Amino acid sequence: MRLILLGAPGVGKGTQAAKLARRLQVPHISTGELLREEIQNSTPIGLQVTEYMNAGELAPDSIMIELLEKRLREPDCLNGFILDGFPRTLSQANYLKTLVECLKTPLDAVISIEVASEVIVDRLTRRGRYDDTPTTIKHRLDIYHRETEPLKEFYRQIGMLRGVDGDADQEEVTGRILRCIAAIDF
Ligand code: AMP
Repeated sequence: MRLILLGAPGVGKGTQAAKLARRLQVPHISTGELLREEIQNSTPIGLQVTEYMNAGELAPDSIMIELLEKRLREPDCLNGFILDGFPRTLSQANYLKTLVECLKTPLDAVISIEVASEVIVDRLTRRGRYDDTPTTIKHRLDIYHRETEPLKEFYRQIGMLRGVDGDADQEEVTGRILRCIAAIDF
C-alpha cells in the first residue's frame, strides 16, 4: 500500500499516518519529522532548514526531494509507505510522480483529510509544538492554501484523490480512511 495523506496543518495527518502505518504494516514517512531529526543532529540540512521551519515557511524543494528520495530508497519501503507532509508543492508532486515511476512503485491513493479552518486553528493552538505560534499557524495555513491545496486538483485529475471528513475522534477518522482504501478498485 502506497498512500499520500494530504491536508492542512492540524487536520491530524501525523496521527492518522502513524495509526495507518501500524495497521497496514508499512513505514510512516513524515518529512517534518525527518527535518526535525536533521535539526536535532545539527546536520548541514538541519542548519539550512531551521530558519524556514521556525518561520512556518516551506523548506526548499531541492532539499525535500533529496531527503525523500533517500528515504524511499530504503529497503523497508519496498512493501509500501504512507507519506505525511510530502508533497507540499506542485513541483514536489511532479518529482514524486517521476520517482515512483522510476522505482516501479506506483501510488495507490491520495487521501485528503478535510477539517473546517476554525477547528484547525483551535487544534493547532492546543498542540503547542515549538513552531505553533499564532503567527506561524496563520502563515502555515496561508501557505497550505496557496502551495499545497492545488495538489488536490492535480490528484483529482488523475483519479487518485479521495476525500475523508476528519472532524471526528481519531479512531473514527482512521476507520473512515480504512473504509475508503478498501473501496478502491486496485
Ligand atoms: P510538519 O511536521 O509536516 O507540519 O512539517 C513541519 C515543517 O517542516 C513545515 O512547516 C515546513 O517548514 C517543513 N516541511 C515538512 N515537509 C515539507 C515539505 N514537503 N516541503 C517543504 N517543507 C516541508
